[in-house]
Amino acid sequence: MNIAIGADRSEIRDELSRATYDLLVIGGGILGTSVTWMAAQAGLRVAMVEAGDFAGATSSASSKLVHGGLRYLQTGNVKLVAENHRERRALAADIAPHLVKPLTFLVPIYKGGPHGAAKLGAGVFLYSALSVFGDGMGKVITPHQAMARVPALRSEGLRAAAVYGDHQMNDSRVAVMTVRAAVDAGAVVLNHAEVVGLRKTGANVTGAELRDRLDGTEFGVDARLVLNATGPWVDHLRRMEDPNAAPSIRLSKGAHLVMRRHEPWKAALTTPIDKYRVSFAIPWEDHLLLGTTDEAYEGDPAAVRATDADITQILDEAGHAVRDSQLRREDITYAFAGLRVLPGGPGGVASAKRETVVTRGSGGMLSVAGGKWTTYRHIGKHVLETLARLPGRPLGDDLAAILPAVPLPGLASPDAVAMRLWTEREPGARMDPLVARNLATHYGTIAFDVARLIRDDPALGERIHPDGPDIWAQAVYARDHEWAATVDDVVRRRTTLTVRGLDTPDVRTRIERLLG
Ligand SMILES: Cc1cc2nc3c(=O)[nH]c(=O)nc-3n(C[C@H](O)[C@H](O)[C@H](O)COP(=O)(O)OP(=O)(O)OC[C@H]3O[C@@H](n4cnc5c(N)ncnc54)[C@H](O)[C@@H]3O)c2cc1C
Repeated sequence: MNIAIGADRSEIRDELSRATYDLLVIGGGILGTSVTWMAAQAGLRVAMVEAGDFAGATSSASSKLVHGGLRYLQTGNVKLVAENHRERRALAADIAPHLVKPLTFLVPIYKGGPHGAAKLGAGVFLYSALSVFGDGMGKVITPHQAMARVPALRSEGLRAAAVYGDHQMNDSRVAVMTVRAAVDAGAVVLNHAEVVGLRKTGANVTGAELRDRLDGTEFGVDARLVLNATGPWVDHLRRMEDPNAAPSIRLSKGAHLVMRRHEPWKAALTTPIDKYRVSFAIPWEDHLLLGTTDEAYEGDPAAVRATDADITQILDEAGHAVRDSQLRREDITYAFAGLRVLPGGPGGVASAKRETVVTRGSGGMLSVAGGKWTTYRHIGKHVLETLARLPGRPLGDDLAAILPAVPLPGLASPDAVAMRLWTEREPGARMDPLVARNLATHYGTIAFDVARLIRDDPALGERIHPDGPDIWAQAVYARDHEWAATVDDVVRRRTTLTVRGLDTPDVRTRIERLLG
């Protein structure tokens, strides 16, 4: 049975406890969600449980780039870049054109910088060639041309800029739409449900013991196979399986800042800091996203934060290319940090390869970690193929072939959706164009469901905070159809209130009341 979107938590818990699943996925970041989606598409009975909110950890703390990874050319990984580009273009064209948008990037080249114009020019040309020039040809432009696109660009010592194309997204929203796609395909999912122990039959892991973090209810899930997709916590779960399991990964912290923007930015900046590291300055959600740091991390993954030292470092590094007037501390609206999962081994974290690691433990549990947001469908398919080929074939032989390009829910041209939302009502009662645009680019055609709530209750058409485009109907929709159970689920991940610095105490109290 497919449990409907909008089912309440106790119904979902009952459904999880009642059946034996083919696959239990632990961790509802983008990796776990992707495997869940792919496995449900292959006809498996799949459950996914997440200790916090879907994408509440690393998957909402990324640089929001859907990219080939210019940096990987540096390490000669041409095949990886071509693969990333293919997936980037598939997401932007076929899977999620409503959520993933194109963005031009400039690499400013300064006197005395770590890379010269010839090298960077060749680099962006190769980069664009690896995506068959689908976003135009990488080239070098003059300082004057660069400053016309980014007026906040520092001009002193600027020799030229290399130009290339990639895409960006709101990672939290893409994640929740992917969870929805997985549920549409038949998966059963629950957030705020933490795995506190593993169920074993003999030596084999055959399920998990859970605790609902919202009301403390304890329950369990049985499964033929268990997949550990807990990102930075992957070794914690592996030790539940085998207390002597050796560490398989290292962690590296990456922090970001969101700043109010004072001028139009028609392009993003990728500024080389040293031979390996770059600093991004990216126009995002009407603001500027700056980052990121890259520093070994050994603490509790749940405690990762952007510290004052991180903020200073990010502003200093952005200052290589961005004018001081755009880098004032009082313009920071939000700061956040996440953890990269890197394969264990020697070498500095900044130069380590971003690879996906799949391992199988002594109790038969599979663990997967690492990789990129951009290639999440690819990683999901790869993990599914690995599961299908396991010795003893615990999932049987009957996995259906997956369709090559199943879109995310709401697929549409965001321009068309925004136009419809805007023209739907009589002049005078029309939706503000900024609100329409925000809905279209974060929900696609699902924006029409959100708009229907306003028709029934016009007060839901009001902005949650006068300085941002998010409206009350989104909070209601998040509660009823997007598994939002806490204030942070709504303000941080279903809407853009937190990143815009608009989650005031008053807003939080009103949303708490709405959530009951
Ligand atoms: C700073 C930074 C910037 C990045 N930028 C980009 C980018 O721009 N583009 C790109 O393509 N990639 C980027 N990445 C990579 C990308 O974000 C990650 O590869 C991806 O988010 C990893 O997802 P995940 O599902 O493995 O991990 P997570 O999102 O961390 O998910 C793991 C989940 O497991 C849950 N969990 C843990 N323990 C339990 C338990 N006991 N029970 C139940 N659930 C549990 C956690 O709550 C968590 O939500 C970036 C990464 C970082 C750190």
